[in-house]
Amino acid sequence: MASNRLACRECHAINHADETTCNMCASSSLTEDWAGYVTIAHPEESDIATEMQVTEPGSYALKVR
Ligand SMILES: [Zn+2]
Repeated sequence: MASNRLACRECHAINHADETTCNMCASSSLTEDWAGYVTIAHPEESDIATEMQVTEPGSYALKVR
């Protein structure tokens, strides 16, 4: 997937490349250095979401460096 998108170091949400703050948690700690695109539709039923402490449906990076 498009590697120029930005992942949030705080909540792992994927943001558009032109964002300066996370659209999920408003953190300014965004990075291009991430891997593993995952879309979580039902966080309450997802083991990955639980492990990532994700509570909102959306697109997330599995790994953020
Ligand atoms: Zn965030």
